[in-house]
Amino acid sequence: RAKDNGRNNYQFYTEDMNRKALERLGMENSLRRALEKNELFMVYQPRISLETGKIIGAEALLRWKHTKLGLISPGEFIPIAEEIGTIHSIGKWALETVCKQAKKWNDLLQAELKVSVNISAIQFQKDDLVEIIKNALEAAQLKPNLLELEITENTIMQKTERTLKIIKELKAIGVEISIDDFGTGFSSLSYIKEFDSDNLKIDKSFIDDIGSGSSNESIIGAIISMAHSMKMTVVAEGVETNQQLEFLRSIDCDEVQGYFFSKPILPSEFMSLLATEL
Ligand code: C2E
Ligand code: MG
Ligand code: MG
Ligand code: MG
Repeated sequence: RAKDNGRNNYQFYTEDMNRKALERLGMENSLRRALEKNELFMVYQPRISLETGKIIGAEALLRWKHTKLGLISPGEFIPIAEEIGTIHSIGKWALETVCKQAKKWNDLLQAELKVSVNISAIQFQKDDLVEIIKNALEAAQLKPNLLELEITENTIMQKTERTLKIIKELKAIGVEISIDDFGTGFSSLSYIKEFDSDNLKIDKSFIDDIGSGSSNESIIGAIISMAHSMKMTVVAEGVETNQQLEFLRSIDCDEVQGYFFSKPILPSEFMSLLATEL
């Protein structure tokens, strides 16, 4: 009976939609409570200088361990946190946590390791970002030049005037600015120059192409020499093979980050890794 079938199909469809909507709602609710429930933590991926071969610092990356669902990747929960506004409290917590961690490592090892923290475009929309960063540095007693803020190419392409103003204020505090995921957007290096950033991170998608004979190899070379002429250092992200490493060395890339050296690791593991270098 056509009528019943139709009805069943309809029901099936709405049930599926309901399930998805409920899942999403559940995710939003648990994300709102993730901080207070101590479900968030930071992992750190070493950054290596190609000049010295040594670890010069790390990128801090968020992790969420959900009580029932286990580890959820930031690629999944950060967009949700951005949509529901939770990114503001999470981002503040991340900055505070990372500054304290960096201070601890540097005191223990008498080093000057640099940490970078990813800042979401949404965090730029609120007026307190500069204040939050100042306070995090002060609370941790961390030197501003040891904190680097990673801002994606897409962020700087939105609300340009405002973003530019905030970045100027941040540079005035003494923190460093890094353009993350460079090459994935449609900005040019001359546009990036306006932002007076210290560092450029070449997106993994370009690094993946090394060795494949793709034209991306010469693009990487061009990006590096142009960045250098603009007094920016260049980090290659997602380096997984020795071939990629050797290529990047040959074209004068400054730093590398990737599974070839280390995945993002817990603070204690990072500390052990640093200890092997002493
Ligand atoms: P991103 O900032 O570009 O970070 C690099 C991502 O590449 C990280 O993924 C890192 O684990 C991964 N990666 C590094 N080396 C390799 C490699 O050799 N191979 C492969 N396959 N992957 C590699 P992760 O930790 O899953 O983070 C994904 C994205 O989520 C980040 O991209 C960043 O946009 C965002 N994110 C992470 N933590 C935070 C945070 O604290 N705040 C904000 N706003 N965003 C964050
Ligand atoms: Mg990053
Ligand atoms: Mg990136
Ligand atoms: Mg500089």
